[in-house]
Formats: sequence, structure tokens, C-alpha cells
Amino acid sequence: MKKIGITTTVPVEILLAAGYKPVDLNNVLVSAPDPTRYVTIAERDGFPLNCCAWIKGIYGVCLDSGINDVLCVTSGDCSNTIMLMEVLKLKGKNAMPFAYPERPDKEEMDYVLEKMAATFGTTLEAATKIRQKVQSARDLALKLDELTWKENIVSGWENHLWLVSASDFNGDYHKYTKELQELIETCNGRQPYPGNEIRVGYIGVPSVYAKELYPYIEKHGARVVFNEIQRQFAMPSPGKSLVEQYTNYTYPYSLNERLADIKTELKKRRVDGVIHYVQAFCHRGIGDVVMRSAIDLPVLTLEGNADFYLNGHVKTRIDAFLDMIERGRRKR
Ligand code: SF4
Repeated sequence: MKKIGITTTVPVEILLAAGYKPVDLNNVLVSAPDPTRYVTIAERDGFPLNCCAWIKGIYGVCLDSGINDVLCVTSGDCSNTIMLMEVLKLKGKNAMPFAYPERPDKEEMDYVLEKMAATFGTTLEAATKIRQKVQSARDLALKLDELTWKENIVSGWENHLWLVSASDFNGDYHKYTKELQELIETCNGRQPYPGNEIRVGYIGVPSVYAKELYPYIEKHGARVVFNEIQRQFAMPSPGKSLVEQYTNYTYPYSLNERLADIKTELKKRRVDGVIHYVQAFCHRGIGDVVMRSAIDLPVLTLEGNADFYLNGHVKTRIDAFLDMIERGRRKR
């Protein structure tokens, strides 16, 4: 199968039906032994210092990996992707746009998906058959999520990793399904996390320092039991069709759609406090104002740039946040 890079979650069923192997460039970036190298490739080619590290990193991955076809999400994710696409074209890549509708509307989504299928020389009927095939992978991802907050036998990092990987199933949904099944079996044999741990919700885009963030939180008597956007990548509300599935997917739309999902899950999962991660130089950072005013729990806003590890400043802020939640509990 021919590889195609994707800049965020897209209707992968259409790409798979068209004979492509989708590769989420973000996941390649953060799982690389030295992600900074990819950011440097972009900066050497002239990307500004004040441009988001994800954009620079996925540009570096594209150039370094030899992937020629790239599907760039220009609406419903990141406006910087429009310019990323232009530069990729300049470098000889076959960079194509994909735009989610401005609002979650089934008619508009139907039009967008039909158009995408036609562009890739396939049909929605063929993509629907793929949807059925990948459903067991998504079901397992959502099962792992349930084991995280309900049975308390899955770590925040495992939850993050497997849900975020649902964007491209690590390039092979059969292997993803098998490995996840094995992990779930292992988790089922574990003792639950202590009942008095602090339960944390994580909202916002995945962080550049995720690999260190989740274990750090767990070392301090807390655990992430809700990963908002990562969970969305696993399509928790699939509906009855591809059109419904991508209309119910909240990430591309307004904060209102996201907040309805966030508030429901925070309550259901008995979350004590929320970490809102924002990426430096990202327009989504402005949404922090709305998130903080809408969420009726302690909120810690963490920013990350191009440090793929937790620095002392971020650690201190997490310590203080968890300490504040703990003191609040003791007073109750
Ligand atoms: S973090 Fe923000 S600026 Fe960076 S790629 Fe994502 S949406 Fe774009």
C-alpha cells in the first residue's frame, strides 16, 4: 500500500478504501528518538521561530521520511496547515487539502466525504465497508478508555497512546487490534489504582511532552482518567454511517461542541481537576479563556513549545496544582 501522510485525524476509511496506508505525521514526530531534529529541518528551511512545533515537526517528518502524498487538513484543525501545504508543494510533495465543514452538519459532511472519495478514486460505499472492518480496533480503544476511568486499571499514558494512535492505527489496523487486545488482557489482571488518587482530565491538543507528563502526574498521586481529543480520535459516537461518525466527531468544530462532550465526561469520570494544554503560537490557546470560564473545576493551563520533555517550571506548576486539589479535598 502506498503511504499517505495526514496532518491530523481525517476520514481514514476513504484513504484505506482507495488503497493508501495513512500515516499520522504527528505520531511519527513524537515517537521519534529525537523529535527536535525534525523541527530543526523546518527552521533551516526558513520556518519562523514563532511557528508551532507540531507544524515544523511534521514538515520535517514529511521531508525526511520520503512520503510523497500528504493530506493536509486546512479547516477544522489548523490554519497554519494552509501554508505548510504550500511549502510542501514547493518541495515537490503531492500535498492535497481536506477541509471539514465549518459546523457539524450532516448534509455538508456528506458533500465533503463524497468529494474526498471522488478525489481518491473510490466511493463512500467502499469506505463504509472499511468502517465496518476497523470498528473492532475502535471498540477496543474505547474499551481501554472505559477500563481507565471505570475499572482504574489503565495508566493515563497507555490511554493517551492508544487513543491518539487511533488516527491511523499505527499504519496497520490488524496489528493495532491484536496488540491492543493483548494489552487489555494484561490490564485485566492488574490491581486497580488506589481509590484516593487525584483524578485528572486532560483537554486540548496532545502535548509535545506527553511521554513524561503522564508518568510524572502518576508519580505524584494522581492519574489522567480523561484524554479529550485523543478519545475523539477513536470516534466515541460513531452513529449509523460515516457521515454521522464525522459529524459527531467534536474536534473540528466550535468550542461549544467540544465543551458539551468535555463537561459530560468530566462529571461521569469524577474528575477532580483539569489540565488544559496549549501549544505555543497556536490560535487554540485563545480558547483557554472560554475553557476556564466554562469548566467548574480547578484548571491548570500548561503551555509547551519545542521541548519534548518536562522542564522544571512545568513540573513545579503541576506539583502546585495537585497540592492545591489535595488540600481542597482535606478541607471537605
Ligand atoms: S497545535 Fe495549534 S498551531 Fe500547532 S498544529 Fe495544532 S492547531 Fe496548529
